Amino acid sequence: MAFSDEIRTMYVNQLEDLKNQGIFKEERAICAPQDSDIEVEFPIGSEKKKVINMCANNYLGLSSHPDVVEAAHEGLDHRGYGMSSVRFICGTQDIHKELEKKLTEFLGTEDTILFPSCMDANAGVFEAVLSEKDVMIADRLVHASIIDGMRLCKAQNDSYKHSDMNHLEQKLQLHQDKRIRLIITDGAFSMDGDLAKMDKIVELAEKYNAMVFVDDSHASGYIGKTGRGVHEHFGVVGKIDIITTTLGKALGGASGGCVSGRREIVEMCRQKARPYLFSNTVAPVIVEGALKVLDIISKSTERRDKLEKNTEFWRKGLTEGGLIIKEGETAIVPVMLFNAKLSQDFAKDLYDEGIYAVGFFFPVVPKGQARIRTQLSAAHEMHHLEKALDAFLKVGKKYNILHKTKNEVIEMYGS
Ligand SMILES: *Cc1c(COP(=O)(O)O)cnc(C)c1O
Repeated sequence: MAFSDEIRTMYVNQLEDLKNQGIFKEERAICAPQDSDIEVEFPIGSEKKKVINMCANNYLGLSSHPDVVEAAHEGLDHRGYGMSSVRFICGTQDIHKELEKKLTEFLGTEDTILFPSCMDANAGVFEAVLSEKDVMIADRLVHASIIDGMRLCKAQNDSYKHSDMNHLEQKLQLHQDKRIRLIITDGAFSMDGDLAKMDKIVELAEKYNAMVFVDDSHASGYIGKTGRGVHEHFGVVGKIDIITTTLGKALGGASGGCVSGRREIVEMCRQKARPYLFSNTVAPVIVEGALKVLDIISKSTERRDKLEKNTEFWRKGLTEGGLIIKEGETAIVPVMLFNAKLSQDFAKDLYDEGIYAVGFFFPVVPKGQARIRTQLSAAHEMHHLEKALDAFLKVGKKYNILHKTKNEVIEMYGS
């Protein structure tokens, strides 16, 4: 028997280790569509509890929108359940081409290629367009899927300190001998909710003859006046060479991702990107749903405007109530607690108050920077946010951390 008792014991011990370190992840089962009001079983199998969801990437509240669901139904009726093929064999329908065209228009680029997920887009794009003659210079806080994609690529791998433009400039100077310099960043960083300095990055790219890559997964759909993303927000539409993003967050929340940008780069991905060539096509149901999402958000900015108002209310309410948040412009609002255990206790008490939000600590965030990451949605109504705010302040009061400085909180609970 290959899976011997010894091997089993080894895994059991590794899993125990994770539990002892407090980093063992447990699933919670949501027994409802994704929305602001959800029913949750936590732990799984226990009694269901009604809670307000403050931690979904459902920024525009489209994950269960009736029009999106209806469009998906129509997709199912007209184009079937699955394609049983990768794109280039027999997995491309008219609607896949239509979605790529609509994404191109929405993002303001030259062309777009769909991937099964944004993780796959990031896994495929670097290897498809770069070689050992080139260098990738990435922000040190980029998403895990970018790091994996860079590992699969033969170009030299380098990085700059998070959002440090002087450091990026030094790295660009250092690599002037390379054929291509590709600057790589997230548009909105998921743990801190800050935006990459896209105007400065584009300026440096022009000065040092570099290309720019942005993964806009946490921004597409709501950042910028019409929700196109960070390039719209910073006035650099048309100047980003490669944008990757997901359909799994603001844009309906199902699954799927894309590479959008320069025509030839997209074509190289069609020829060479391995997750595109060797993984199944995005299901027709999702394609129709995503087309409806783009339709809704291209016609009106109502949802991103509502999200902006909700975010403003939330940031202001927490700050005035005396909690410490990370400043920023996104719908990602981290409530800083610094101590790992406090972040877990705080989240547990919130859950008892009917609020669902998750505490993060090392190694997900740096040591001493434990937090509860809250995320706003256009599906939140004022009554949701008022109830959630009351709960945050009630629990904050319980732990006596309201209107305290960072140092005072750390003095009480450690970091
Ligand atoms: C969520 C996320 C991804 C992964 O997207 P999927 O489509 O779920 O694979 C990739 N990059 C960033 C920056 C993300 O936030």
